[in-house]
Amino acid sequence: MSENSAFTCRLCGHCCQGEGGIVLAEADIVRLCAHLGLSRQEFLARAVQQVCGKYRIKSRADGYCLYFQEGEGCGVHPARPDICRAWPFFRGNLIDAISWEMAQDFCPGIDPDVPHAEFARQGLAYLREQGICRFSGPCDQAAAGPDGENSDKRREADTPEALVMNDSDTDPAAQPTGTAPHAP
Ligand code: SF4
Ligand code: SF4
Repeated sequence: MSENSAFTCRLCGHCCQGEGGIVLAEADIVRLCAHLGLSRQEFLARAVQQVCGKYRIKSRADGYCLYFQEGEGCGVHPARPDICRAWPFFRGNLIDAISWEMAQDFCPGIDPDVPHAEFARQGLAYLREQGICRFSGPCDQAAAGPDGENSDKRREADTPEALVMNDSDTDPAAQPTGTAPHAP
């Protein structure tokens, strides 16, 4: 995103630190294997731990994700997991201004001068552009979507909760109105 956007990553690495936060969906595993030139078996053995039936990227001894590179950011950026791709546009931050404010303390890439409503608008557009705007509910309803977009809106069984949207999240009439829209 550009410098004028609601979010510009500063490569600080805060979101790449912490045990067990990066849950992998099946599509993430396939994409990372292809990017790294590893078989599924090799990738799982090298980079993944299984906790409560979920696959998670391993952390290093310093607490950072295995793929974090100091000063450079993500070492697998083109193939990074959807949950990394989506941050900071997690559902909670899109629908709740308090969560968005709390996220600002954690992530210096969020511009506090851009109103929450604009953050949410840009975030939703970004998630759609990335193909990671996932919907809950029956697949046929989700596939139809509020604006007629197609089947990639289906919720995968292993999609991290932070990425799961409700139809009302995308309905402008249902969006929070506490902050004025950002004037272009
Ligand atoms: S916390 Fe925010 S600014 Fe820092 S690396 Fe993560 S996304 Fe970028
Ligand atoms: S995969 Fe990349 S973006 Fe995600 S936590 Fe690891 S280093 Fe950060």
